[in-house]
Amino acid sequence: MGTLRFKSIEKAISRQPVVVESPSVKTSEYFAINVFNKKRMQEYLSQEAFSSVMEAIEKGTKIDRKVSSQISSGMKAWAIDKGVTHYTHWFHPLTGATAEKHDAFFEPASDNYVIENFDGSKLVQQEPDASSFPSGGMRNTFEARGYTAWDPSSPAFVMGTTLCIPSVYISFKGDSLDYKTPLLKSIEAVDKAAVALCNYFDKSITRVNVGLGCEQEYFLVDNDLFNARPDLKLTDRTLMGHSAAKDQQLADHYFGYIPMRVAAFMQDFEIEAYKLGIPVKTRHNEVAPNQYECAPVFEEANLAVDHNQLLMTIMKRVAKRHHFKVLFHEKPYKDVNGSGKHCNWSLITNTGINLFSPGKTPKTNMLFLAFFVSVIKGVFEYQDLLRSSIVSLGNEHRLGASEAPPAIMSVFLGEAVNKILDEIETRVSGKKMNPDEKTELKLDVGKIPEILPDNTDRNRTSPFAFTGNRFEFRAVGSATNVASPMIALNTIVAKQLKEFKNEIDRLTDQGVKKDEAIFQVIKKFILASKKVRFDGNNYSEEWKIEAEKRGLSNINDVLTALSAIISPEAKELFSEMKVFSERELEARFEIDLEKYTKKLQIESRVLGDLAINHILPTVYRYQNILIENVKGLKELFANSDFEKLSSTQLASIREISSRTAMVNIKVNNMIDERRKANTIDETAIKSREYSDKVKPYLDEIRYQIDHLEMIVDDEIWPLPKYRELLFIR
Ligand code: ADP
Ligand code: MG
Repeated sequence: MGTLRFKSIEKAISRQPVVVESPSVKTSEYFAINVFNKKRMQEYLSQEAFSSVMEAIEKGTKIDRKVSSQISSGMKAWAIDKGVTHYTHWFHPLTGATAEKHDAFFEPASDNYVIENFDGSKLVQQEPDASSFPSGGMRNTFEARGYTAWDPSSPAFVMGTTLCIPSVYISFKGDSLDYKTPLLKSIEAVDKAAVALCNYFDKSITRVNVGLGCEQEYFLVDNDLFNARPDLKLTDRTLMGHSAAKDQQLADHYFGYIPMRVAAFMQDFEIEAYKLGIPVKTRHNEVAPNQYECAPVFEEANLAVDHNQLLMTIMKRVAKRHHFKVLFHEKPYKDVNGSGKHCNWSLITNTGINLFSPGKTPKTNMLFLAFFVSVIKGVFEYQDLLRSSIVSLGNEHRLGASEAPPAIMSVFLGEAVNKILDEIETRVSGKKMNPDEKTELKLDVGKIPEILPDNTDRNRTSPFAFTGNRFEFRAVGSATNVASPMIALNTIVAKQLKEFKNEIDRLTDQGVKKDEAIFQVIKKFILASKKVRFDGNNYSEEWKIEAEKRGLSNINDVLTALSAIISPEAKELFSEMKVFSERELEARFEIDLEKYTKKLQIESRVLGDLAINHILPTVYRYQNILIENVKGLKELFANSDFEKLSSTQLASIREISSRTAMVNIKVNNMIDERRKANTIDETAIKSREYSDKVKPYLDEIRYQIDHLEMIVDDEIWPLPKYRELLFIR
């Protein structure tokens, strides 16, 4: 009788914090010890090999096959010194997780003796026969070959006894089958466009890097409680459960004292992260009970994306030691806040200038303004594309529910910067500038970037906010591979920067002076993108009305939102910027739809099983108890007394009957709809059927079950309740 639930509660309550053996040395002494970084390369590689890797990292040059065998033997020597026995190409297929296939270093040589082997060709390329990864039809099974190839800009690392080599994953024909390939291309696109624009101001700028810092939110739940919830186990979220009487209304968890068991877990995974060179810096409690956040110091975007994926893996692994499960789902619990992953994004030159740092006098900082307005215009023109990069079945539950930005894309700038843009907008161009203005507008970027003191009046409701020296993309979901939003953002901005430069060239060709031309383009961009600027409350109803008046998109439907990546504008943009071909976009869309459908299918199956096999039998059992009680009362009492004494029980008996009947009918209808949908071959139609016909039942069935939870004796309820999942640790 409800035994699994109570056993799990008992175990969870008695759990003590795990003692973490902390390294007896300073963090700086063991930071990145498991990474084949610059320092190790210098130690293990020849000068030629080392320079070749450095050049590949800094300039994106190709590594010669001959040199690659030198690199691989250096890498192998280092790894074997660390007790490593296997190696793998580590990559990001479109499942959203990371993938690895381990091969041993040893190889049989002759006569019962083996040698440690790992030659250059294996470092550079592997063929993992990965025909089961989603490819959206680009890789037919008869030509199932997909190749992984080393990405030298992300250093190899050791996990356990395996050397992991960050890799891209492409098809035989060269189509990208992963997140990393297009991410690298988008970084290249933005670098190229940014450098070209920067060179108007400063010829010494030869490279512009993308900076990315991801704030990872997550929930923790005790392992035993988790194991008693099949829905959490199979779908990463609770498909039923009545709200706890108390959850986040007192805001007593946010930034509060970190519970000891949790603190031990954090300390433990941070140590592991440091060993892998992941610079985790901040940790705190989040808004919902049992919800937390960790954020590393920002890094170059490609590395930051790898590190975020790696961090999630480490957290899951380390959680085991602490008898926790980490939930990265965007909305594991109904009615409490979900989890996001704010992406702090910026562009930084090789000369150390953060292009979004307004400086002391932002009005005169034309370089800053040029980049700044390009981003705003990009968000405005490609709002649908940006939204499509973060939308998913999981994130849908979180967005727009008065806890996270809605489906409308807008940019928050803060009062100070808004004022500057407004001023520029009203300044008459072509008008002779007075000497003051002239000196102000010098194309001078030599000054030290300084953060405006008052511009971070933190509007937490905005999906895309300027936070003083970077943009923060807040609509991103906690489970997302952040390569996806980064690819969109980099490409969109690259396009705007290119356009910005073309506009200047057009004007100067007409004889307009360079500084005046830049000023005019800034003004033009400000005017063109004004509608996307919004500093008010993004959660309010008024904003929805206002946004509609402004003509901004407000696409709530996930499937419609996803389809933005195959729009004619998207296809044009991505092929112009050389990030995706049309084929690749079509394939990605197909994969997204399939993912959506499969996830819904799993949720719907799990809910059906739970309803029929866990909930209904329990509820009938309780109803029998009530019936016995009523029968007894009838035996004991005369008619008038009996009616009075049994009325509550009878009402419950009736309510149980009507609700269980509803659950039964709805589960059966849901199964019917699923069957019908499953016969459809066309991915787009099938996902639409799942979304419109199957999905609504999830809420309807849950509604009945959550009411039943409130009637039935707590002693026999089979699943850990919200108050247990959220408050026991
Ligand atoms: P908050 O919660 O106030 O937004 P956090 O400290 O939790 O701030 O996270 C801020 C993140 O932004 C960190 O990862 C930080 O390294 C990153 N960040 C700071 N400056 C930049 C920048 N110029 N470019 C990109 N990311 C940045
Ligand atoms: Mg933030």
